[in-house]
Amino acid sequence: MSRYLKREYQALEAYTPGEQPRDAAYIKLNTNESPFPPAPAVTAALTRREAELLRLYPDPTGRALKEKLAGLYGVGAENIYLSNGSDDILNFAFMAYGRSGAVFPDITYGFYAVFAGLHGVPYEEKPLNGDFTINPEDYFNQNKLIVIANPNAPTGLSLSVGAVEEILRRNRDHVVMIDEAYVDFGGESCYPLIRRYENLLVVRTFSKSRCLAGGRLGYAIGPAELIGDLEKIKYATNPYDINRLTLLLGEATVEAEDYYREKCGEIIRVRAQTAARLKELGFEVVPSDANFLFVKSGRIGGEALYRALKKRRILVRHFEKERIRDYNRVTIGTAEQMEAFCRAVEEILEEIT
Ligand code: PMP
Repeated sequence: MSRYLKREYQALEAYTPGEQPRDAAYIKLNTNESPFPPAPAVTAALTRREAELLRLYPDPTGRALKEKLAGLYGVGAENIYLSNGSDDILNFAFMAYGRSGAVFPDITYGFYAVFAGLHGVPYEEKPLNGDFTINPEDYFNQNKLIVIANPNAPTGLSLSVGAVEEILRRNRDHVVMIDEAYVDFGGESCYPLIRRYENLLVVRTFSKSRCLAGGRLGYAIGPAELIGDLEKIKYATNPYDINRLTLLLGEATVEAEDYYREKCGEIIRVRAQTAARLKELGFEVVPSDANFLFVKSGRIGGEALYRALKKRRILVRHFEKERIRDYNRVTIGTAEQMEAFCRAVEEILEEIT
């Protein structure tokens, strides 16, 4: 750290992303990417001509993609905000709406606390229940920005739309941001509520169910006024935040809905198989609506299992946080990858007995 850094950034604790090994020799079950490639029409959109057009700036309004997404959800283009990955939207929301503080669960996406720190937003972490479920009442009448990942990460558990609506009704003077990064794997979206709640911001990403983590594309669905706030911040930071190729790939992705629905179905099927297998091996498996499982073995600690799997070239995610140290978060890969994962777990458990 240099002596030039602003004092408020000196103590900033940044986010630690999951490992991204350079070689492909790992089975990567640690950052909730899709094991499937983008739809064939998406890859086909990457032509030489489009590469040559990179000399031009992208459309800063992202109009064509916004219209496609608006058509998909039956909302107006003015209800859609596009971003360079959904992390950017979360960042902007803390910047824009955190004036009286923020509230989120104690076990959730680690970046929320980082954004709060970055923008000097005081925050309160509401402890999840013993079974990791969220108690909606904890979020009533908070008079702060409310941030809930639904399904939550790393647990995979969802809140019902009815529960989200109760939270919205009881926080009319503050924004409620629902992060739906994993909603396509079994959760229920609350975006239809944007018509009735001027304080609802729904955040989505192409990184998980749309197989496009490397393209960096996120979006928000919300009332036009909230979308306008985000646009204002974007035009005050980086109007060309989404590159031409990613906008193009985003459009082709929205048109390939059927492909992605099928792939989500496959993840859900493999998730059920993997959960059943792990339970047979004595694991506690948190019921998941996401593309990962949050699991704990009664026989081996979370960190020891993470290390033993890594030795076998399988990466899962382990968190140091006290309350979840015994757990691992395992992304659902292809059926073959999950077979290899389950076999490796069996071997590891045999070795320690
Ligand atoms: N929200 C949650 C809950 C996540 O797990 C992630 C992925 N790490 C994100 C948002 C950000 O995803 P991206 O920036 O790739 O859209």
